[in-house]
Amino acid sequence: MTNGTWTIDDSDRLYNVSKWSNGYFKIDESGKLKATPNPKKDVGILIDDVIEDAKEQGLSLPLVIRFHDILRSQVKLLNRTFQKVIDEEDYGGKFFGVYPVKVNQMREVVEEIVDAGSRYNYGLEAGSKPELLSALAYNTNIDSLTVLNGYKDRDYLRLAILGTKIGRKIFVVIEKFSELKMLVELSKEYGVIPNIGIRGRMTVKGRGKWESSGGEKAKFGLTTSEIILAIEYLKKHKKLGALKLFHFHIGSQITDIRSIKEAIEEGSRIYCKMQKIGAPLEYFDVGGGLGVDYDGTNSTNDSSINYSISDYITDIVYGLKTVCDLENVEHPHIITESGRAMTAHHSCVITNIIGEIDNTKIEFSTKKKTGEHHLVTEMRQVKDLLDKSKNWQEAYNDSVKIKSDSIHAFKLGILELEERAKIETLHLQILKQINNLVPDEDFQTEQIAELENSLSGQYLCNFSVFQSACDSWAIEQVLPVVPLTRLNERPSKRSTLADITCDSDGKIDRFYDPDEGFKKTLSVHELKEGEQYNIGIFLTGAYQDVMGDMHNLFGRVNEVHVYADKHDPKGFYIEETVPGSSARNVLSTMQYNPEYMAFKVKRSIDKQVARGTIRPRDGVSLVDFYESCLKSYTYLS
Ligand SMILES: *Cc1c(COP(=O)(O)O)cnc(C)c1O
Repeated sequence: MTNGTWTIDDSDRLYNVSKWSNGYFKIDESGKLKATPNPKKDVGILIDDVIEDAKEQGLSLPLVIRFHDILRSQVKLLNRTFQKVIDEEDYGGKFFGVYPVKVNQMREVVEEIVDAGSRYNYGLEAGSKPELLSALAYNTNIDSLTVLNGYKDRDYLRLAILGTKIGRKIFVVIEKFSELKMLVELSKEYGVIPNIGIRGRMTVKGRGKWESSGGEKAKFGLTTSEIILAIEYLKKHKKLGALKLFHFHIGSQITDIRSIKEAIEEGSRIYCKMQKIGAPLEYFDVGGGLGVDYDGTNSTNDSSINYSISDYITDIVYGLKTVCDLENVEHPHIITESGRAMTAHHSCVITNIIGEIDNTKIEFSTKKKTGEHHLVTEMRQVKDLLDKSKNWQEAYNDSVKIKSDSIHAFKLGILELEERAKIETLHLQILKQINNLVPDEDFQTEQIAELENSLSGQYLCNFSVFQSACDSWAIEQVLPVVPLTRLNERPSKRSTLADITCDSDGKIDRFYDPDEGFKKTLSVHELKEGEQYNIGIFLTGAYQDVMGDMHNLFGRVNEVHVYADKHDPKGFYIEETVPGSSARNVLSTMQYNPEYMAFKVKRSIDKQVARGTIRPRDGVSLVDFYESCLKSYTYLS
């Protein structure tokens, strides 16, 4: 880290922006974060400007910003890269990507993806009946595919048949044998049969959080013996002609490119061998798994990937071609079901810091009192000695020891409350002094951890982790977090981020630092009186956007949909605003009746008015106030 003036390059390095952003976010000369939906052109959209426009339209923080251009750009990138690699490798098949709706089911997201993908015949994947209902309504391009995964009942299969009847290219992927029997029965009844796919159960697992999606003990897919039985079954019922696709999915966020190579090796052999025993396959579906480099380390960390989108595609095309050529089988069309990589970058959550919890700032007198407990005296001596001798190592050890002894003494009842407070205050003063005195490299790791823990504060953020970043709580997913302004100023302190739910798990305390690796605190700027300090949580467009829940009845967040516009003075316009849930919305989903609630409260107020304890004028405004709170946003204003 430089000792001189702090520049935006220092911030870029500290927050790793260039590494995780795929070029979609940069730091502006003015020290503000901007979105650059078209990374090649330098027109940027200052996130601060978007917040301002949103406020003008009545939407306060927390706020989800969707950059629809980024969504389009990712769809284009996937399709164009496939086309390029297919041309370069002289590959015989075509690419037919499908977007898996479960990754972000928001209508606007699905619509935008379908629209951006229409010229590439990019389709949709559904994994449940409601998702299939949306795919039937929105994937109207008859040249793109609709791939159906997940467990299926008769109605699910009837919907697939409906899709086939209206001319859609439907592929029903069989996850378990009984689905095949049901499908064959129903197709006899309705006189049409959708294309059939078979999901293979592979021995390869995608290393990382989702490795149990693959492997022999996976929840889905047919074993090799079941695949042979399925082919025989279809032959017997004269439906083998419908078996067009082989599918596998070894897990989401595949961190290591080796897993992809291995899966292609195994999968393409199964494909070829199925051909040889009579399956007229034409499509090879590699499922999802294309990962996102959330921490920006380009590694096999759970939150990272050690490959690029182009490495991924090259390995698929090249691997499949090699095996097919060896087996003398025609190159199949390739399908991918990438969801995370398509949507993660396009949305972010913006929240404001509403306050700070910092124990080191409390001023408490530690003056000597006659007859005080000797632990207090000892602690004071440690501090005096540190002032004089600068022997920090000894002071550190003693201070930690006395602090821990004092807790025991307090529990035994031999230390007064005021004495404990003095010891804690002195301990923090000592740690602060040591932290300022000693360069980082002289500490041992556990000392650094203790110092960081004791000295860092917490910034309180106006949002709920459970609603807006649930994977950071549920599976320790690392998401990039960056202050939106003052990035040309050195961040002078470190802080964990606590949300406003009454849940101690409601916090973000895992961040990546290029110098120190993963740590509990984020580098932040000192708060200024009267100035709002906003931070962004990025790469929330996949899963986070839709999986959140209403813990503490904090509801959906306000949303703006932004498009870049090079003719606009600020470089963008807000195409749509979607107000977040009001208190009455979330109460209604929990079976409350807001009208009845307002009525009951009004009746109680009226009673007090009748008794004369509340003045009639005040009674009216109390009723109005209760009703206006029912209508308002669930977050802090
Ligand atoms: C979840 C899922 C996907 C999407 O995976 P990503 O890793 O988000 O690309 C694709 N296919 C199937 C069968 C899935 O279950």
